[in-house]
Amino acid sequence: MQMLFDHHTHSHHSFDGSEPIEALAEAAVSRGLHALAVTDHCDLGLQCVPDWEERLSGSMEEISKNRAAFQGKLTLLAGIELGQPLHDLQHAADVLGRFSYDLVIGSLHNLRETEDFYFLQDAGADPRMLLDRYFDELLEMTRWGGFDILAHLTYPYRYLGYTDTPPIACFEEKLREIFTGLAHGGKALELNTSGLVRSPGGRTSPGLWELRLFRECGGEFVTLGSDAHRCAHVGGGIREGLELLRAAGFRYQASFSRRRAAAFPI
Ligand SMILES: [Zn+2]
Ligand SMILES: [Zn+2]
Repeated sequence: MQMLFDHHTHSHHSFDGSEPIEALAEAAVSRGLHALAVTDHCDLGLQCVPDWEERLSGSMEEISKNRAAFQGKLTLLAGIELGQPLHDLQHAADVLGRFSYDLVIGSLHNLRETEDFYFLQDAGADPRMLLDRYFDELLEMTRWGGFDILAHLTYPYRYLGYTDTPPIACFEEKLREIFTGLAHGGKALELNTSGLVRSPGGRTSPGLWELRLFRECGGEFVTLGSDAHRCAHVGGGIREGLELLRAAGFRYQASFSRRRAAAFPI
């Protein structure tokens, strides 16, 4: 049987989410998913919200409560999307020391002292320069290594006007360094499927080229995640994502429990 996992979703405990965890779990069951990770945001640095502590405690409590309620029907995993951990390492350590997660997603939504890529799309910034800084920060994050899964690699592409992989030769060396670092650290790369469902002619983040390169660099673990912020998107694109993973030559998808990776045949 093909196991279906969604490792990246947001509940009403995220600033940009709106649904209770019970509803997300019900949606996951109705779509035949076997495991669902709720990974509410904790952005550090510029994007940190003042009530982050209540949000994370609330998310964890609700996950625990529903984990029992859905036992036998769905494996509910406790996760977090830790944004920009390098921008406040002390805060990152506090958060990770305080809560016990099954999985920690590391993500980068904005560069140091710079707004979210989302806001840079019309600002006339030089895309090549921004991407150079983006991959540099990802490499630094990989060397830090306090996460389990590297989220939505190529996140800025959609805001910088790339509809497909940009001139890859510019970034290939940096990507190889990032991927080799992830592989050596036993970290997973996320295949984020949100673009398949929510953008016209959408693509995954990253795409096939990057997935193949990750494998070439010794990468073993890839997790799938819809990045759903509402029930309608839970599990979105996961089946197509598995196809892409197979096309890239992977025979397994990864999952995490208590921050340990496990591989499942695809
Ligand atoms: Zn994100
Ligand atoms: Zn997310």
